[in-house]
Amino acid sequence: MLRIVNGRVYDPANGVDGAVRDICVQDGKIVADPPPGARTIDARGMVVMPGGVDIHCHIAGPKVNLARKVQPEDHRHDVHPRTRFTRSGTGGTVPSTFATGYRYAAMGYTAAMEAAVTPLGARHTLEELHDTPVIDKGFFVLMGNNVLLFRLLQEGRREEFRQALAWWLAATKGYAPKLVNPGGDEMWKGERNANITDLDQKIGPFDLTPRKVIAEFIEAGNELGLPHPVHIHCNNLGHSGNYQTTLETMRMAEGRRAHITHIQFHSYGSVAGKSTDNPTSKAREIAEYVNTHPNISADVGAVMFGRSTSMTGDAPLAYMLRRFGGGKWVNADTEHESGCGIVPFTYQDRVYTNALQWAIGLELFLLSEDPWRMVFSTDHPNGGSFMSYPRLIRLLMDAEFRKEQMAKVNQQALEHSGLRDCQSREYTLSEIAIITRAAPARLLGLASKGHLGVGADADITIYEEDADKEKMFSTPRYVIKDGEPIIEDHEFRTDHEGRLLHVAPDYDQGIEQVIQPFFEDYYSIQFGNYPVADRYLHHHQTVPTAPQAAGSAASAV
Ligand SMILES: [Zn+2]
Repeated sequence: MLRIVNGRVYDPANGVDGAVRDICVQDGKIVADPPPGARTIDARGMVVMPGGVDIHCHIAGPKVNLARKVQPEDHRHDVHPRTRFTRSGTGGTVPSTFATGYRYAAMGYTAAMEAAVTPLGARHTLEELHDTPVIDKGFFVLMGNNVLLFRLLQEGRREEFRQALAWWLAATKGYAPKLVNPGGDEMWKGERNANITDLDQKIGPFDLTPRKVIAEFIEAGNELGLPHPVHIHCNNLGHSGNYQTTLETMRMAEGRRAHITHIQFHSYGSVAGKSTDNPTSKAREIAEYVNTHPNISADVGAVMFGRSTSMTGDAPLAYMLRRFGGGKWVNADTEHESGCGIVPFTYQDRVYTNALQWAIGLELFLLSEDPWRMVFSTDHPNGGSFMSYPRLIRLLMDAEFRKEQMAKVNQQALEHSGLRDCQSREYTLSEIAIITRAAPARLLGLASKGHLGVGADADITIYEEDADKEKMFSTPRYVIKDGEPIIEDHEFRTDHEGRLLHVAPDYDQGIEQVIQPFFEDYYSIQFGNYPVADRYLHHHQTVPTAPQAAGSAASAV
């Protein structure tokens, strides 16, 4: 039981913008009145916000583990020491499970979504998420290159497609369907170097196009009433001129909800219109589209200079990037479900392309007119580690600091971006609270997160006010999870187990009669061993779905 007094509260979901007011906590939830005998925390001179919510990161599962394995040098350079209350781990751009949970918590984050898991990797992912302390977490299930789903779509079996989508989410204990370069794997495997995808091109042997796949997923995800309908990594990530693909993908939603992830990597023009040219910024065109289409949301996927690890279900992309990494790379294929690739990578401020990517990320934030629909991410660890979030917050809040950093980067790249034109904007604390917690929670459909209203989860972060926003957001004074002070005076005071967040949509049991024969014919494991058993759930929360009648799914955020 807690009563937090004298702090300036930023709770944008409830219209609270820096007012001094009490926050009361009982049984892990926010309550209206101070419970009798509650401990008081004096937050004078401090800022009180809901815990941070990361809508898109890569923190658990087979590909994350592969990335840890290929970078053993990180393990000794950045050790996360054992303390009286916390377990030890290794850091670097891909921290071990324990270090991931503690480092998120130490930054004031209390929930995070692992963004790309193959169904076959679900069990491994759940084991690692179970080992990721403090934060609540869930994962998105890779479905955009799934051979059986392609077959159902090709044969026009829409209802079975929808049932199969629901079955796969339920069977994996996942949170939302994820598309990564939909159709791109088959095209790439079928033709050498076919790593540019035309939305209207045939997908390998299927009588199907990426356009059809994307449209059907958007429609089905909305009809199933999933809390987060579909999370889309568009085709042609990283290629010059790809902004056209991104615009076209957003248009396909036709008013239905869709989330475009790490949109920075999909906002590139080209000097002469060729995919082999140096990229230019099309942030203005992309931001304009998102600004004027309330059914679309996006996270930025900002690039931060320094070490990163490119880690993606987009195997063709990883194959392309291998030439730009430090010499190590891995590509892998997961049966009939997805590909994956890992490339350790360093973003350098003097390199044209890297500086342009950095500038485009900032531009997208600064051109966004609705912080509820253009939210915070670095696609950790792809654009940069989650440990760089405080610096990114400073870049958004402090125009003078941003100007200093702009002077250090490749100037030709800056000229090919529009960053100078939007340089004067500074994010407010309220806007930061929106893009880092309130909006991601709302976009994920997590009604009890991202705000401090009565009934919300008592996940609370208290920062000491500081002119240096990087310092302020790096080390909160208090972090409270489920009503329990985990961090006090910047130090861990206890350990905590977060919850797995997952959906369990209803589906017609008959769909297993469609999936099982395919499985027995083509997969390497028995169908009976495929769905993840309930005993993997441990501490969990089933987030409800709200199915809609077919064809009536057009609704704004
Ligand atoms: Zn990602």
